[in-house]
Formats: sequence, C-alpha cells, structure tokens
Amino acid sequence: MADITLDQAKTEVAALRKQLDEWAEAYYSKDAPEVEDNVYDQKYNRLLELEKDFPELVTPDSITQRVGGKIDTKFTKVAHPIPMLSMGDVFSKEELREFDQRIQKQVGHPVAYNVELKIDGLSLSLEYQNGRLMRASTRGNGQVGEDVTANARFIRDIPQTLPKPLTIEVRGECYMSKEAFAKLNAERDENGKEVFANPRNAAAGSLRQLDAKVTKKRDLSTFIYTWVNPPEGITSQHQAIEEMHKLGFHTNQTGRKLETLDEIFDFIDEYTAKRDSLPYCIDGIVLKVDDLGIEQELGSTVKVPRWEIAYKFPPEEQETVVRDIEWTV
Ligand code: NAD
Repeated sequence: MADITLDQAKTEVAALRKQLDEWAEAYYSKDAPEVEDNVYDQKYNRLLELEKDFPELVTPDSITQRVGGKIDTKFTKVAHPIPMLSMGDVFSKEELREFDQRIQKQVGHPVAYNVELKIDGLSLSLEYQNGRLMRASTRGNGQVGEDVTANARFIRDIPQTLPKPLTIEVRGECYMSKEAFAKLNAERDENGKEVFANPRNAAAGSLRQLDAKVTKKRDLSTFIYTWVNPPEGITSQHQAIEEMHKLGFHTNQTGRKLETLDEIFDFIDEYTAKRDSLPYCIDGIVLKVDDLGIEQELGSTVKVPRWEIAYKFPPEEQETVVRDIEWTV
C-alpha cells in the first residue's frame, strides 16, 4: 500500500495523467516522442500502482483504461468491430513467472506459449475480400483507426491478392528496417530536413501520410502475426502464423512454441544478445498462450488481452535524438 494519503494520491494521479497524455499525444498523433520509452513506462507504472492502491481514483478516461492512440481527423475512419488492443508489459523474469502463475491458476493447468519478438513499429490491420486487399487501417484508439489503404498498396511485402479467394482480416506490425531508416535519415539530413527519432516513428510517420506517394518513397515492411477469427482447423497461434505465411504474408520466422519458463528465459537471453544484430528493431519479447481456445476463455480487459504479455528489454544506451516535426502532409 502506498505511503501517502488519498488527497496526495489524487494530486499525483492528476499530474501523472496530464503528463502521460501529453507524451502520448506527441508519440501517437505526431509520431514525434518527447521522451524515451522507459521514461514514459516509469510514469505509467507509477500511475498503475497508485490506481491499484486507490481504486476509487480509476476513471475510464485514464490512459491505463484505454488504448493510447488518437485518430487523425484528416484520415477516413475505420471501425474495428474486434478492437485492436494494447498489451500488458513486464520488466523482469520474475514478473513473467507471476504472469504464468496467474494463467495456470485461471486455466487449471500449465500452458504452452508462442514466444515472438516484439517488433518496434505500429499495428496495421489488413482486410481482404475474396482474396483481394480491400482495406488497411491503423490501430487508432483501438475501436476506430485510420484508413491507410492507399499507403499499404505501396508496401512491397503486403500481398495485394491471396492465392485463395478468402475473406479475412489479419493484423501485424508495420516497421522500417534499420537500413531503410539510416538511408532515409541520411537523405533528410542532406536535404536539410529534420531526421526521425527512431525507426518506429519513421514507420508511423511514413505510413500515416495523406499522400500515398510519400509512403511509396519510404521503404516500409510488415510482420503479420494475427489472424482475426481464423477458420476452423486453425487452433493455435503458431499454426495461424504458419498458414498466413503460406498465404504469402511476411511473417517473422523466429517465433517458437515453448512449454517451460526455462526455455522462455533462454529465448529472452538469446534475443537480448542478438537484438543489436537484427536488421529491424525489437523492444521486447511477447508471450502468447498458444492455444486459441484458451485465449478465448481468458479474454481481455478494456485495454489488454489477458493471454499475452510483453517482456520489455531494459533501455538501450541513450542517444541524442533529433525529432521530426514534419510528420504531417
Ligand atoms: P506496446 O507498443 O507496448 O504493445 C502493444 C503493441 O505491440 C501492439 O499493438 C502491436 O502493435 C505491437 N507488437 C509488436 N510485435 C508484436 C507481436 N509479435 N505480437 C503482438 N503485438 C506486437 O503498447 P502500446 O499501447 O502501443 O504503447 C505503449 C508503449 O508505447 C509504452 O510502453 C511506451 O514504451 C511507448 N510509448 C512511448 C511514449 C513516449 O513518449 N516515448 C509515449 C507513449 C507510448
């Protein structure tokens, strides 16, 4: 229990929400973060802690109760009947152990996890009708996103047509490789334009463009990891990824179905070591209950699925960051 009074907590909670809302606005709407993620995460976790100790202070508009992004009114809105949620996160192996214990307690037995890299980009939904790409949209506020179909048509690894006439929705991460990011920033620097803070913001700023020709010039990629309402016969997360791969989606092939925490901790250690040498940025490791039936059973809170969690890497060496202020079109 926090060692402060309700009045003190009220004041601190109000200040934290104001600060976090400002940072979230810069990060999600302007694609130009004002602080490093770990600074944001620390304040966010303090807010979570206070709301846990003083539940009477929880309000639906708190950043802990909603997905962070806002929709830019310049874009056509796209409703997400199945919300695009955020993800809970932990910062230590001990907290992962607690997550696993909670799952086991709820499910009544040990479960296997599909363990995946957490790609540092922005979520993207792709909708196909009869095998043709009809619509692409951002996560937005989780319920409603932004229509970026014209932009997605210029992302080379997104199939415009599928080998079968399927009507499906898949979701994944749109990202910019380290190489494409370095090249883009070098060009911008040469042309006297401000450079992007990091590949995540470069990806978001390049996808969320009203003029798709700008997106065309940027070298964006995707990793697709979710099949929304997959057909019967697909019963696990790893199987869904395999099937999406066969359909021509760009999927990340490093994911593994793992049964024990020791194996999961080894995977974390392996990718903590390999992280810098990967051609794209990752900011953690995601554990997803592999069995889709159990996922359904566990469900979600208003903000995060209960069946998945991100283990976030400790912050990297701080770098001097120059922000891009020309994110709009
Ligand atoms: P998040 O980005 O931490 O996690 C959820 C997202 O992870 C999903 O929406 C998806 O897009 C992505 N993801 C990547 N790989 C995935 C995979 N394999 N499987 C499933 N999803 C995958 O959550 P969020 O709500 O988008 O953002 C919160 C985080 O953003 C904070 O923890 C903070 O680090 C950062 N943030 C930073 C600032 C800042 O000012 N620096 C401001 C706001 C938010």
